[in-house]
Amino acid sequence: MERVEKYIPPPNNRTHDRDSTFLSEVVRRSGVNVSLCWHCRCCGSGCPFAADMDYLPNTILRLVQFGLKREALESSAIWICVGCHTCSMECPQAIDMAAVMDTLREMAMESGIQVGEPDILKFHNEVLKSIHRYGRTHKLEIMMRYKLWKQDWFKDLDVGLKMLSKRKLDLMPSKVRNLGKIRQLFVAEREEKKK
Ligand code: SF4
Ligand code: SF4
Repeated sequence: MERVEKYIPPPNNRTHDRDSTFLSEVVRRSGVNVSLCWHCRCCGSGCPFAADMDYLPNTILRLVQFGLKREALESSAIWICVGCHTCSMECPQAIDMAAVMDTLREMAMESGIQVGEPDILKFHNEVLKSIHRYGRTHKLEIMMRYKLWKQDWFKDLDVGLKMLSKRKLDLMPSKVRNLGKIRQLFVAEREEKKK
């Protein structure tokens, strides 16, 4: 994906679509003080996925600071972030970018807006379903279900076969002992969302 380094004008020029509660809502939900960002860009230079993002990680924070909710929630960057925390290790302000991205993904889902990377969302959901079913991920089944949805059976086939040959893909799922406890986490999360 080509990264578009979109120009973000100063807030005074964008009063028409600013959400004055967006910044405080993101801070409250993520527990991260987004306003501390200096925009030094150390995070983006360390991020292994920045090249595939439409906005650099610090630009996402800028959108939040300016209350540009739609731009932030519709971005592909929030879905491409894998929460590896490489950026946080580089950040002089110790900003937990992964927590912010997580929060924005959650808000994007709740808002019902068009998700920037629907394929990634589908993959996320398959991973969660697998954890709910077995208490841990069954990679082969996740890949099969994802492929069924995408209808592109032969793309990345070589990678799949290589993983199978190296015994990185178990044919049968293994379950955790106390599956009930894992499922309680899903129930607790649903209850939390209702509040
Ligand atoms: S490294 Fe930290 S302070 Fe610098 S731009 Fe990124 S989030 Fe902001
Ligand atoms: S947590 Fe997200 S933004 Fe930070 S380095 Fe990892 S992928 Fe990039």
